[in-house]
Parts: sequence; structure tokens; C-alpha cells
Amino acid sequence: MPRLRPSSLYPYFRSVAGLRGVGPVTHKALMRLLTPPRPMLGEQEYEPVLRDLLIHAPTGCEDRRQVTSIARAEAGSLVTLEVDVAEHRPPPPNRPRMPYRVMTRDVSGILTLNYFHVKGDYLLKQLPVGERRFISGTVEWYDGRKIMAHPDMVVPPHRAAEILRVMPVYPLTLGISQRVLLRLMEQALQLATPLPEWLDAALITREGWGDWLSSLKTLHRPTAPEFTLATPARRRLAYDELLAHQLALGLSRQHQQRNATYPITPDAALHARLRAALPFTLTNAQEAALAEMMADLASGHRMIRLLQGDVGSGKTILAFALMAEVAASGYQAAFMAPTDLLARQHEKTLTPLAEKLGLRLIFLSGKMSKPAQAKARAAMAAGEADLVIGTHALFQEEVTFHKLALLVVDEQHRFGVEQRLQLTEKGLSPHILQMTATPIPRSLAMTYYGDMEVSILAEKPPGRQPIDTRAVPIERLSDVVEGLGRVLAGGQKAYWVCPLIEVPQTELDQETQEADIAAAEARLTMLRTHFGEKAGLVHGRMKVAERERVMREFAEGELQLLVATTVIEVGVDVPEATIMIIEQAERFGLAQLHQLRGRVGRGRAASSCVLLYHTPISEHGKARLSILRETNDGFRIAEEDLKLRGAGDVLGTRQTGLPSFHFASIMEDTALVTTARDDVKLYLSKDPDLTAPRGQALRLLLNLFDYDHTVKLLKAA
Ligand code: ADP
Ligand code: MG
Repeated sequence: MPRLRPSSLYPYFRSVAGLRGVGPVTHKALMRLLTPPRPMLGEQEYEPVLRDLLIHAPTGCEDRRQVTSIARAEAGSLVTLEVDVAEHRPPPPNRPRMPYRVMTRDVSGILTLNYFHVKGDYLLKQLPVGERRFISGTVEWYDGRKIMAHPDMVVPPHRAAEILRVMPVYPLTLGISQRVLLRLMEQALQLATPLPEWLDAALITREGWGDWLSSLKTLHRPTAPEFTLATPARRRLAYDELLAHQLALGLSRQHQQRNATYPITPDAALHARLRAALPFTLTNAQEAALAEMMADLASGHRMIRLLQGDVGSGKTILAFALMAEVAASGYQAAFMAPTDLLARQHEKTLTPLAEKLGLRLIFLSGKMSKPAQAKARAAMAAGEADLVIGTHALFQEEVTFHKLALLVVDEQHRFGVEQRLQLTEKGLSPHILQMTATPIPRSLAMTYYGDMEVSILAEKPPGRQPIDTRAVPIERLSDVVEGLGRVLAGGQKAYWVCPLIEVPQTELDQETQEADIAAAEARLTMLRTHFGEKAGLVHGRMKVAERERVMREFAEGELQLLVATTVIEVGVDVPEATIMIIEQAERFGLAQLHQLRGRVGRGRAASSCVLLYHTPISEHGKARLSILRETNDGFRIAEEDLKLRGAGDVLGTRQTGLPSFHFASIMEDTALVTTARDDVKLYLSKDPDLTAPRGQALRLLLNLFDYDHTVKLLKAA
């Protein structure tokens, strides 16, 4: 893909193939090792450039400044020695697997250098007999002798300075060594050119930072052996990276808000009717969020908002209120759920409300018959439907909306900036309300949803019971079953969750999924020996109709115990359910366990959650489960989960193309994220098209970190 880049960045975008010492093997290794700032979509091969080398951050450093003697060199330690080469002992021709030995010595003793698979005569050149060399590497004892296998570095005395220093340590891949990488890095640093300053002068002064290039040089040529995240050079570069990302988000938000959208004027009469139709009054948190969102809709700008609220906090009804408002203004609103099952459930709860308000609601999912889908699409295109509920089938090629003014996206982490821009490309620029029950720590929310406004429902509807949570070893299964029997006899309902790999990515996953389903079926059989036909099973591989029948029986009928894989994770609402038993709880993420637990405690009766674990369980695993016992605060759990598992897992977005940072750490740099976000907001309010001198420099920053697409959103070039 050819791109037009400012010429001042050319040095940064030269291929690494042009560096000295990059042959085919090293080149292949660099292709594996170096990744661009923005994850690549698709499978195409990436040709790394100098920029990628320069942002390949070291993870530590090694101090090789002290020269020691052979006698004092301790086994296992990294040392620098000054030795004389005494003798070469190549392996005998009939034993090529033997090491090639080079005997060296100093006044204190003898050291053997061992080399394997030696080709040609490079060792004779590097270590000529009778000459002095500085060598650095790890010393070992072998067979009563001190040896060093493949020294990291060997140089003649006039080049000793190359060794006698603190050296950065880089993450590596097969086919490239620290030494080679170091040499390439050095070349890249020499080719890199200064760039105009894109940071605010006051910030630089306050933090005591250097400029971009000098920070890169400091990071890659450390002089002190301490390596910490607090190093100003590292912090500056982390800030650059975070700023580029926040700026890209800010520009995309600005662009999306510039698109004309339908203004929605609040309809007081409709609002009153809606409230009258609800069987409850809204909580203060709901009222506040609703007011914020109504103001967005009426503002004339496009709403792009994330509504965060723990499971059961009552997000759906707010979404519906907005949808009704939009319909009352004569436009369409769509509600997209991640699965067919959840979409159906929303349809079921919202249809009666829609009817009371005289709004026409239809359903569309890829699982419907072709004629039924065609009929739904026709109704959407003709404007015969006010509200549409469905899955992502809502945005297939063939679908056209009459006047789509609001899109609600429920529990879909994969719906991000790119998806919104795709909508825009289809000529749609609806207001967007994205909802999630995965409480996201603030730092993460700003990183991943930085282009959205955020509303939080911190309070739950009244009358919710606290959930008594315990961790129980599987050996006590019979006690659990007995306790369950008492509760079921009292007429209450219970979930029994077995783990399941939801989307197999590999053959191994496929096998695990099959084993998981078999385990869930075996559990059902066992539970039926106690509870007979009161127990049913749903799992991810069942036919939709079948699954729905079982779910319905559980929600409305005779079924009292639902054995399930995680298909019940989000959204399902059965108030009579009071027990949640989760088997192999150690296999779930904390946030996921919290979500599952949120399925109970929705009615009046006291509820409990049993986390069954397999023994032996690690300390770490126990600590995780005990966090759930201690707190019911989704945000606290999410923070802990983040600490324990890392960002990709918490969001369930490992493969979804979210940024991964080179210099910045999501966990450690939260303050920098906040500063970057504020920086961007303030700056864009003054120079929205990045035309002032700092704005021009910021454009370079965007290009440098591969956010070229957002530069294209700017008005003036
Ligand atoms: P979530 O935020 O998890 O999507 P829901 O919207 O499914 O939560 O709401 C959970 C349950 O709480 C639903 O049965 C809903 O009708 C009910 N609910 C929502 N708001 C209130 C309220 N203010 N008072 C009482 N119940 C409410
Ligand atoms: Mg929900």
C-alpha cells in the first residue's frame, strides 16, 4: 500500500534490509521480531523499517564494565575478561559435533572458549594465536575446567570500549542475537534524524524530558546499570506513543462528530408514557446517565458514548428509552446483540414495551430463514420498522436502513473505531451507544475507548441481595449437590456452569471444546440421578431452537436446574435463580466469574455462588478466587483481573487489533494516559486541524506511529 509520508520521516521508514549485516537469515528474524505500532490486519508479510527497530524497547540492561580475572570469574556469571589466545583445537575431522576449542589465559588461569558448528576460518581471524582480546560472556564449570561457550562479544584491545559498557537487553527471536541486534540498533540510531518537537514545552520542562531523538539514544545506549520504568527517556517515549494513540482517537471522535446526524428532540409525552409503562422507577444512576445521553442526542452532534454498568445495573431499559425517543422523532433505532440468544431475549423483553408505546419493532438475525430475513430487511428499508433488534446481521451488505439515527451495541467489544468508520463509509452516521457489563478500569477505558464519552451506572436497582460466595474443592461435590437439593425442593432455580472454549482457534482448542461439552453432558447425567427431569442442559454447539427451548423451560417452566456452558454469560435474566455453581472456576477469568455470578441475586431471595475448583490449586489460583469472595465490586475485580492477567485477556480482545504498546505499560503508565488524553482534548479545541506549528509536528507523530489514516481525516493538508 503506497503512502505519502512527509520527507522528514524518510530515514525512519527505510527498510531494515538496507542495514549492514542484514542477510537473509537476519532479515527473516527481524520480520518475526519487529512489529509495527498498529497491529496488522490479515496475514500479509510485514517489511520492518528502521522505526520498528528503534521502537523495539529493551527490557533490561547488563553491566559489562568490570574486567575481572579468570580465577575470580564465578560460574554462571556474566563477566568481561582480558585474555591472551594460546591455541586453537578444532574438532577432529571424524567428530564434527565436538566443540571447536580456543584456549585462552590470563595471569590467574586458563579459560577454554567452546564453539559449536564452526564454519570457515572466522575464529582464526577473530582470535589469532598470540594476540590479546577482550571477551565477554557467561563462564561455566565443565569437567573441572572453566569454559565459556560462544562468548557474547570478542574485540581487540583498541576496541575495548565496545564491551566495557552497560548494554541494553532486548527481547529476541530465533535467528538473531543480542550482539547482532545491538549493532543494527546502533546503525539505526546513527541514521535517525531529529524531528520537530510535538510535545508541549511546559510539559517537557516539568518532566525533565529530552527530545525524541535524544530519548531514543538514551534508552538504547544506557550508561547506568539500573533499568527502571521511571527513566525519563523511557517515560518520554511512552508518552509519545500514548499521545499518538490518544490523538488518533481524538481525531476520529472529532471526525465522527462532524458528520451530520439526525437531531433528536426530546418528546415529553412519549417520555411520560414510557415511565408509566415501566414496572419500576429508575435509579438515580440511571436517571443521570439517561439525562447525559438525552442531552447528547439533542445537541446536534453525534453521540458516541460508552455506557458501563455492572451486570444487572439496568442498562437495557436506558437503551430502550433512547430508542423510543429516536422513533418518536421519526427515525429508526437499531439494537445489536452479540449472539442470537441475547438478541432474542432483548426482543422478548422490549416488544411489550414497544407495543405499549405504539412503536413497530422487528427482529433480524442470520439464523432466521432466508425469506424471513428478506421480509425484515424490506421493512427496515421501507421505514416500516421503527426499532430493529438483531445480531451483526443488521449490518450485512444487503441491509439498508430507511433513516437510522441510533445504534445500540450491547456487549460487543469488537465494535470499535474501525467498525464505526465502516458505518460512515456505508453512509450511516447514527448516534452510537455502546454498552458493556465488563467494568473496565479507568486507565483501560481511556486507552481502548478513548474516542468515546463514558457514562457509568455505579448503583444497582434496589432490593438486590448480596451474593454469598464460596470456593469449594471438587472433593466436596456431594455436599454441594445435597445443598442444591434443599434449595430446589424449596422451588428456587439454579445454574450449574461448566467451562467451554467458545470459539476454537486451533485443532487443540477444538478437542478441548469437545471434551468440555462431554464433561457438561456427563455432569447433567450425574445431576439427573438426583433431580430427574428438573435438570436440563444448554451448550454452545446446540441448535439455536433447541437451546432456546431449554432456556425457555428454565425461565418459565418445570426446569429448575440449568447445566450450561458459558452461553448464559451475559444478559440472561431469570429472577427466581438463586444459586450459581461454577465448575472448574479456576479456568475462568475473574471478570467472567463476576459476570456469571451476576446471573443470580436478581430477585427477592438470598442468593449464593459456589466456585468449585480442582485440587491441587496454586496459591495464585486461590488468591484469585478469594478476590471474588471478598468483593462484589465489579471495578475492583476488573482491576485485580488486569493485574493478574493483562489487558488483552480482560477485554477478551487478544486478537481484535487493539493497540499494543512498545514503550508504554498499560498498568504502570495510567497517569501518562490521563495526561495525554487531556493534552489532546485541550489541543484539539484550539487547533482542530493541526495546522499550527505544534499541530504540524503532531502530524509527524501520527505518521511515525502509523496513524496515517487519521491524518487523512484532517481538513487542511
Ligand atoms: P444489564 O445492565 O445487566 O443489562 P438489565 O438491563 O438486564 O441489566 O437489567 C437487569 C434487571 O433489572 C432487568 O430485569 C430489569 O428489568 C431490571 N431493572 C432495570 N432497572 C431497574 C430499576 N430501576 N428498578 C428495578 N429493576 C430494574
Ligand atoms: Mg444487558
